[in-house]
Amino acid sequence: MTKWVYSFGGGLNEGSAGMRNLLGGKGANLAEMASIGLPVPPGFTITTEVCSAYYDNGNAYPADLAEQVAAALHRVEKSVGLVFGDATAPLLVSVRSGARVSMPGMMDTVLNLGLNDETVEGLAASSKDERFAWDSYRRFIQMYGSVVMGVPHHRFEDLLEQAKHGLGVTDDTAIKASDWREIVKDYKDIVQKETGKPFPNDPQEQLWGAISAVFGSWMNPRAHTYRKLHDIPASWGTAVNVQAMVFGNMGDDCATGVCFTRDPSTGENIFYGEYLVNAQGEDVVAGIRTPQPMSAARAAADQSPMEKVLPEAYKELMRVRDILEKHYRDMQDIEFTVQSNVLYMLQTRSGKRTAAAALKIAIDMAQEGLITQEEAIQRVPPGSLDQLLHPTLDPKAEKNLFSRGLPASPGAAAGAIVFTAEEVEDRAAKGEDVILVRIETSPEDVHGMHAARGVLTTRGGMTSHAAVVARGMGRVCVAGAGGITVDYKAQTMTVGNVTLKGGDWITLDGGTGAVYVGKVATIPPTLSGDFSTLMGWADEVRRLRVRANAETPEDAETARRFGAEGIGLSRTEHMFFGPDRIGFVRQMIMSDDPATRKKAIDALLPFQRDDFSQIFRIMSGLPVTIRLLDPPLHEFLPHGETELEEVATALGQSVESLRARRSALSEANPMLGHRGCRLGITYPEIYAMQVRAIIEAAIAVSKETGQAIVPEIMIPLVGMKTELEVTRKAAEAEVAAVFKEQGTTLDYLIGTMIELPRAAITAGQIADVADFFSFGTNDLTQTTLGLSRDDAGSFLPYYVDHGLLPKDPFVSIDREGVGALVRMGAENGRKTKSNLKLGVCGEHGGDPDSIAFFESVGLDYVSCSPFRVPVARLAAAQAALAAKKAKASS
Ligand code: PEP
Ligand code: MG
Repeated sequence: MTKWVYSFGGGLNEGSAGMRNLLGGKGANLAEMASIGLPVPPGFTITTEVCSAYYDNGNAYPADLAEQVAAALHRVEKSVGLVFGDATAPLLVSVRSGARVSMPGMMDTVLNLGLNDETVEGLAASSKDERFAWDSYRRFIQMYGSVVMGVPHHRFEDLLEQAKHGLGVTDDTAIKASDWREIVKDYKDIVQKETGKPFPNDPQEQLWGAISAVFGSWMNPRAHTYRKLHDIPASWGTAVNVQAMVFGNMGDDCATGVCFTRDPSTGENIFYGEYLVNAQGEDVVAGIRTPQPMSAARAAADQSPMEKVLPEAYKELMRVRDILEKHYRDMQDIEFTVQSNVLYMLQTRSGKRTAAAALKIAIDMAQEGLITQEEAIQRVPPGSLDQLLHPTLDPKAEKNLFSRGLPASPGAAAGAIVFTAEEVEDRAAKGEDVILVRIETSPEDVHGMHAARGVLTTRGGMTSHAAVVARGMGRVCVAGAGGITVDYKAQTMTVGNVTLKGGDWITLDGGTGAVYVGKVATIPPTLSGDFSTLMGWADEVRRLRVRANAETPEDAETARRFGAEGIGLSRTEHMFFGPDRIGFVRQMIMSDDPATRKKAIDALLPFQRDDFSQIFRIMSGLPVTIRLLDPPLHEFLPHGETELEEVATALGQSVESLRARRSALSEANPMLGHRGCRLGITYPEIYAMQVRAIIEAAIAVSKETGQAIVPEIMIPLVGMKTELEVTRKAAEAEVAAVFKEQGTTLDYLIGTMIELPRAAITAGQIADVADFFSFGTNDLTQTTLGLSRDDAGSFLPYYVDHGLLPKDPFVSIDREGVGALVRMGAENGRKTKSNLKLGVCGEHGGDPDSIAFFESVGLDYVSCSPFRVPVARLAAAQAALAAKKAKASS
């Protein structure tokens, strides 16, 4: 016989905390609390398997369920000495849902079930409080009527308001028993009118009605949506908990409350929560009366903390709090009721908390000896560290939503709308807070992005230029907000009939992708000592090294401050847009004879040497990977007529011939065009100059600091071994030339990005000529899925919303496709060269889920934007611990 029903309390505990899947979170924890001796009113849990069986059998219960429920109910009756449906000493019960994880959207609670026209008199007699009994009855009709029978809640509320008005009272507690009797009658009329059925008088019918309502609510649209949003399978089902009622509304020695064992917003070790004297559960959240604080320390002068009002019950609650924390070894979110000064526990679960609280609680609990250091590391969600490193929106501030895009770079920023990078720079220089708004950004906008407080684009995905660059700089960014129409000419942006002009203020929430009209207050980040303690603990256990993607001295400094162990990607193209260089870059690509090109390139050499020297200095001996020029040429082409004329004058050519050259260089699909090593092979002078600059800088800084520098030169967009052979040979020749000129040598590495499917597939061959691989998972995702990094925003959200893809593959690695190529590339590369250094420098290098995958592949390091370095350190530690655990159990 299948066991469908598990008892708890009253001396028989058939469940435990470990049985969450079968009993749901609430049921499992009620049984656990009862079994460790805490005061839990007796009851029973109908398992989640009943829910599944119910749906599998066309909404019918297993045949023997009724019998098991009756037996469990009888046991409850015996343990409290009352009888369900008895006219003189009636047992009343609560019926609550309880899935594995708490799930808003489902039927929640029905209290006082078992009351009818006869039992209400019994309750009045046994409690010696007629008013209480009739109030309980009307509450029951109201709850059951709305959540089980579907009567709109406000129908009851409206009637009650009218009644109070007629009686000339404002507070429910001032309503007399005789008046409640009348209200009960009217409530029943409402039910009859709204549903065409009488309110059920039979307690058994009430009980099964409530049980069916819980199971029925598992499939309601709200629960369905919530499950989809949180990846909860429908097959889990919900449990139903039926429990003897205790009453917090039987007088002034009664109360009910909801609290956390520690402060869930700061993590402070102080009892935190609210309670109400003479009230039932829903009163605390209903907002009709103002709940009061628990501890005297947290109470204002005009408040009545429970510690003072009900000192005995409070003391008992503090004892329970300690037991719960020691037992569960985590901060708990609890519900309780005090009936005639006696405390009863109705729920405990691990409490939700802010990132700051998660961090503080984890560290405190480890230091208090409640949990181990390793557990503390696992208690803090890595992604939540973003909240600690950036300003966030003040949750109390008023907000007026304008539109939404992708949460491309975290933090919150407010500023005036500005549509060009130039204007951003000008206004920022005057001390103004500005937000750069572009349809999309290009490398030319980088200086404006840097000067802006935040960046908003209406096109592009999570690895679009705006997203990648903003993350790197730690600038707030909302990308791909496709609902906004930007009109550069009119200097406006519009959603529906709301139009904002240049200069109007907006606020971006880079953590959620929300764009608000006006200025929303923000809260600055605070990095506590706990933060560095946790980072230190994480560093002790992780295997993966963590580097940063950085090209400016400022980013390199940030990266070091956040604990980066080197630079895994320096995108040199970002260095080419400075106003002092872009002219030479344009001359370089627009000239069609090698001699003129060489002149322009030579002019760039000192700039590059200086760029690299600064980075080497800041990174003082840590590994630095510098990637040779990668982007498509069109990004550097002169745009307007003035730029064209400037280049023409510098090159001594006609504007006409340059215009022709510009159109010859334009590409239909630049992302798959003349970029990366293809550029380095066809214009070898560019890479030669960069290699020279790297080696000259490394020699100079080594001499200056006395520290050995081992530069890592990285070739982008290699698809074939031949490409790397050619570029490597050319680079080695240039290095040799520099060594000869300088009369010295140093160690260096030449490696490649693996960012094309062909490179991953033929990694065994490519490894012959590579000292290291760095997986460029942005391009690898783009090319493996055939999905443009910059255009995916128009349909990718639909794919994710509708389950065609589990997550945005530009954010979290597509393990089955792109991930399989990374694994293949790593394995084949190492077959050729066992000591091949392997890293990843796509945006996935900062994503906790992807980091767990890279740990499993055995990469040596991940490289991510500087602000994600702490996230990656923690995620790498968690991945290492998970791997250790998996190994131990295999
Ligand atoms: C990549 O493709 O993953 C990468 C790191 O290079 P980029 O984003 O500069 O193309
Ligand atoms: Mg790339």
